[in-house]
Amino acid sequence: MHYLSTRNKAVKVSAAEAIAMGLARDGGLFVPESLPAISLAELTAMKDMDYRSRAVSVMARFLDDFTPEEITTFAEKAYNERGFDTPAIAPLHKLDEETFFLELWHGPTCAFKDMALQMLPHLLTASLRKTGEEKNVCILVATSGDTGKAALEGFADVERTKILVFYPENGVSEIQQLQMVTQRGENVGVCAVKGNFDDAQTGVKNIFSDEALRDELAKKGWFLSSANSINWGRLLPQIAYYVSAYADLLKLGRIEPGEKINVCVPTGNFGNILAAYYAREMGVPIKKLICASNSNNVLTDFIKTGVYDRNRDFYTTISPSMDILISSNLERLLFMLSGGNDGEVCGYMKDLAETGRYKVSDEMKEKIASVFSAGFCSDEETKKLIGETFRKEDYLIDTHTAVGFNVLKAYREQTGDATPAVIASTASPYKFCDSVLEALGDESGAQGLALIDALHEASGVTPPRPLLELKNKKRRFDLSVEKTGMSAVVSDFLK
Ligand SMILES: *Cc1c(COP(=O)(O)O)cnc(C)c1O
Repeated sequence: MHYLSTRNKAVKVSAAEAIAMGLARDGGLFVPESLPAISLAELTAMKDMDYRSRAVSVMARFLDDFTPEEITTFAEKAYNERGFDTPAIAPLHKLDEETFFLELWHGPTCAFKDMALQMLPHLLTASLRKTGEEKNVCILVATSGDTGKAALEGFADVERTKILVFYPENGVSEIQQLQMVTQRGENVGVCAVKGNFDDAQTGVKNIFSDEALRDELAKKGWFLSSANSINWGRLLPQIAYYVSAYADLLKLGRIEPGEKINVCVPTGNFGNILAAYYAREMGVPIKKLICASNSNNVLTDFIKTGVYDRNRDFYTTISPSMDILISSNLERLLFMLSGGNDGEVCGYMKDLAETGRYKVSDEMKEKIASVFSAGFCSDEETKKLIGETFRKEDYLIDTHTAVGFNVLKAYREQTGDATPAVIASTASPYKFCDSVLEALGDESGAQGLALIDALHEASGVTPPRPLLELKNKKRRFDLSVEKTGMSAVVSDFLK
């Protein structure tokens, strides 16, 4: 199986090359040449498999330059009870006959990013071996909170790698900051940037395109790579949990083989929902993919009108991991839906770079509407639904998941579509204690780690162990730099 660049399909590489390179040289994203199928018989057989075996079965179809033994070993290392607090790894929570939450936050950092970032380091180091890359890799990350910690945890003490995370000094929650600055591992670094997330992100992008720095690092035996969802190795493990959710619904006897479900995903960079789209194209019976946004509703408008326009106000919301105006992974969808028309994709991306806007063809717009539905909600609506779901259903959800649930409810009201639906539950409510507490009407005024106890008191839900353990952890990283000082930090980190 080959992987092509979305901007030039004459570029063909193996899975290992795509994963080692991250981004194609022409700026495009790597996509599989064709999608492998998964039959109903195979889906039905998965009823009786554990999560690891399901993940191996899905991933092996895309990684024909890896042996089944290799992939099995990766899955054993990535998804086990040292890292995850449930043997189910990605369990389904049944709210009612029509509504199921796919809990993707049982990993070491309590957000769905773990599902991919526990796997990526194994894929990446094996890819370095397979491609004969002799240099070691340094992963650079700019984070608004969840990705940084998940990447640190995934890459800590992984051979041939180092990882350096930059976060905006005043732009992450207190719990997110503590999670990062207490990170264990000999090969990790964490640095605050005096600026906002965009400053940190721009700083990292500048480092990536700094030829002189790259040469200097190459002489010392290092090359730079990224851990965000532009890397195929981060997207692939996410397809597995949608397949797994379908198998679990079969196992519960809620659906018959072939019966359709809807999938609703709280979306930012379009990675998670794209994985669901791939699962659908492989043959998982999914009717609609429902794309949920907060007030940064650029995707809602795009799916409804066919016009992507990032020229709009940016809002800071209580679902910060979805505060994003450029959804990079959309480029992969455009490539698929255009029938692999790289010229068409280049045109859209050029318009986006030059004007911040593009308009897809009518044909593309119709295809999108046939698969996707979209909606958004405000912070007030999000909080209201967290409170209601807790009081009426005794189930506590985080601010991102609540955006998904809200949009699903609106979709049902508008369409009358009662197809059973799976909502991707993307974070533990304990990661966003302050907003969740507010939603429950708590007025304890707790701060810092005391928020965890306050939410425990208010909800009775057991806090995740990795967050409780923050209380006993020592702060290891105090570095903070001006945004112009980031590349010096990289040089120093790799000296
Ligand atoms: C990253 C993240 C999202 C958005 O996922 P995308 O793949 O970027 O669309 C949603 N919720 C949480 C909690 C996240 O960390």
